[in-house]
Amino acid sequence: MTFFDFLHMTTKEIRQLEIEKCPFCETEQPRKLCRNRYWIQIAFIPIIPYKTKYVSRCTYCSGDVVVNDINHGN
Ligand SMILES: [Zn+2]
Repeated sequence: MTFFDFLHMTTKEIRQLEIEKCPFCETEQPRKLCRNRYWIQIAFIPIIPYKTKYVSRCTYCSGDVVVNDINHGN
């Protein structure tokens, strides 16, 4: 069993972002801002929030780019 077996990730869609060229599939696609939250889980029950990451997700290939400033989406 590895450390990551204890982590469970939930994703919440925050809002739509503008159309941008995706670095993964290299097409122009609308992106959406998502919040990925990682939980430490015990017996398959998420107990403690471990970390939260905001990502800009491609609606075509689901490629995630980590977002530092969620007000600008970049
Ligand atoms: Zn893409």
